[in-house]
Amino acid sequence: MDLEFRLKAAFKTSADPAPGREAIENFINNDAVTLLSKGAPEGEEAKIENLEIGSDRIGVTITSGRYVRAHDAMIRLRRPLAAKLGKEFHIGIRGIEVEDFKITMESEKDIGNLKIPHVSSMEYNDGKLILHLDVGEAEMENRVPDRILTLMEDKIREKSYGAKGEHWDLLWQSEKKEIIFAEDPTQEMMKQGWLKRGASRGQWIHGPQSTKLFRTFEKIVLEELLEPLDYREMIFPKLIPWEVWKRSGHAKGVYPEIYYVCPPKTRDPEYWEEVADHYKVTHEVPTELIKEKIGDPIGGLCYAQCPPFWMFMQGETIPTDEFPIKVFDRSGTSHRYESGGIHGMERVDEFHRIEIVWLGNKQQAIDTAKELHERYMHIFNEILDLEWRKAWVTPWFMAQEGLDGVSEEREAGTTDYEAPLPYRGEDGEWLEFQNVSVNGNKYPSGFNVKSQSGEELWSGCSGVGLERWTSAFLAQKGLNPENWPEEFRKRFGEMPEGFSFL
Ligand code: ATP
Ligand code: ZN
Ligand code: MG
Repeated sequence: MDLEFRLKAAFKTSADPAPGREAIENFINNDAVTLLSKGAPEGEEAKIENLEIGSDRIGVTITSGRYVRAHDAMIRLRRPLAAKLGKEFHIGIRGIEVEDFKITMESEKDIGNLKIPHVSSMEYNDGKLILHLDVGEAEMENRVPDRILTLMEDKIREKSYGAKGEHWDLLWQSEKKEIIFAEDPTQEMMKQGWLKRGASRGQWIHGPQSTKLFRTFEKIVLEELLEPLDYREMIFPKLIPWEVWKRSGHAKGVYPEIYYVCPPKTRDPEYWEEVADHYKVTHEVPTELIKEKIGDPIGGLCYAQCPPFWMFMQGETIPTDEFPIKVFDRSGTSHRYESGGIHGMERVDEFHRIEIVWLGNKQQAIDTAKELHERYMHIFNEILDLEWRKAWVTPWFMAQEGLDGVSEEREAGTTDYEAPLPYRGEDGEWLEFQNVSVNGNKYPSGFNVKSQSGEELWSGCSGVGLERWTSAFLAQKGLNPENWPEEFRKRFGEMPEGFSFL
C-alpha cells in the first residue's frame, strides 16, 4: 500500500432508518460494490469495511486507494441510497457527518509538523505519514482532501530531491573568450561614479553612463528582435492583486519574495492626522501606528512581468487569424525581496526588464520561441560578443517524475541564458541573464483565453533583464568603451558625461 484513505462517516437520516435495515444492507452489499468499483482498476476499488445503523444515521467506514477515493465514494453513495430509502421508506438523507478521516501515505522522510488547513494533526512513523483530516461534507465535495494529498505528495517529492534544485541540460555553448577584464563591474561602476546605492534595499540609482547602457540594450532588442519580428508594445500594470497571482499560479509559492502592498484604510485626512503630527513632533515615522491604519495586503509589486498582461485577454475568444499574438512591455520595474548577498547589480530587489510575451496554438508558441532564440544568438554573438551558453532547466522533481509530461520532447519548459563573470574566477557560478520559456497552456487556461478554432492555446515569455545584461557585458568587457566590440560601440555612441562631487 502506498496510499490509503480511511473515512468513518454517517449519512444523517430524517427518521430512524431501522425499518429499512434489510434494504440498506442489501444496498451496501450489492449496489454499492458496483458503484465503488467504477473507474478503479481491479483490486483498487473503494471498500465499505463496516456498516452501523443508528437511530438517526447510517454509519459506514470506507477505505480506498487513489482511484475511487473514500470521500468520493461517500458522495457517490449518497444519491442512490437516498433514492432507495425515500421511495420505499420515506426516509430522507439530511447530510453527511464525518467522524474520522485519515490519509496514510508513504514517505522516506519525515516532513515535519506543518500547519495545513483541514489537517488537524499529522504523525510520522516507520516510513508512513498519517494525516488526520478535519473536513465536512462541503470540503469533501470541494475536493479539499484531494488538494491536501497533492500538496503532501509535492512536499514529499521536494524533500527527497531537496537541495538538488534544478535539472540542467546544456543546449549550446559559445567558444571561450579571452579574459580582458577581471574586476567586479558593480564595484568599478561605483568607483567611476556611474551609479550609487539607492536608499532602499537592493536598489541602485543609475547615472547617465549606466542609463545609456540600459537604453542601448533596449534599442538593440527593439531593432534586432522586436521590430523585425513584429512585436507590439503594451503597458502592463505593476501593482499586482491576488486575483492575478491566483490565476497565474504565483499564489502557490511566491510569498517569501513579494514586496507587499497595503492601501490605507481610508483617505480621510483626519484619520491620518495623528500619524503626520507624530512625525512633525518627533521626526520619526510611527510605523506601528501606520500598521494599524492600513488594510490587508491587496497583492504586491510586479514580480514576474507577464501575469498582469493576461487580464487583458481574460475570458476572451480570439479570432484564429490573430495568432501568434506577440507583445512586449518595458514600462516599469520588477521587485523581489532577494536573499542575502545583494551587494552587486546582478541580484537586486528592484530591476528593469523587457518582458516579451506570445500566444498561439502549440506549434506557433514553439516556433515563436525558436525565432527568439535565433535573434538572441545573433545579438550575443555578433553585437555583444559575449561568452555565454544556454541550458534547458527543469525543477528536479519534475524532471525525475516526468511531471512536465513533455520534458523528453522539450516543448514546454524554460531555457536559461547564462554568462561567466570572470571576476568570480574560473570555477565561479555563471549568471542567468535571461530566459525563454514556453509555458504550455498554463496561462491561457488559468485566465480562460480561447481560440475561435477551439484549438488549445499555448503561450511563452522571455525576460530580458537589463541589470543582468549589464553585469554580464561589463564583467566580460570592462567599463572602457575602447574595449567594447565595434558593433556595440556603434550603437552606444558617445559616453555621456557623469557627475563630479566636491
Ligand atoms: P535567479 O535564479 O538568478 O534568481 P530567477 O530564476 O529567479 O533568476 P526568473 O524568475 O526566471 O529569474 O526571471 C526572469 C529574468 O528576470 C531573469 O533571467 C533575470 O534576467 C531577471 N531577474 C530575476 N530576478 C532578478 C534580480 N533579483 N535582479 C535582476 N534581475 C533579475
Ligand atoms: Zn513571464
Ligand atoms: Mg530568483
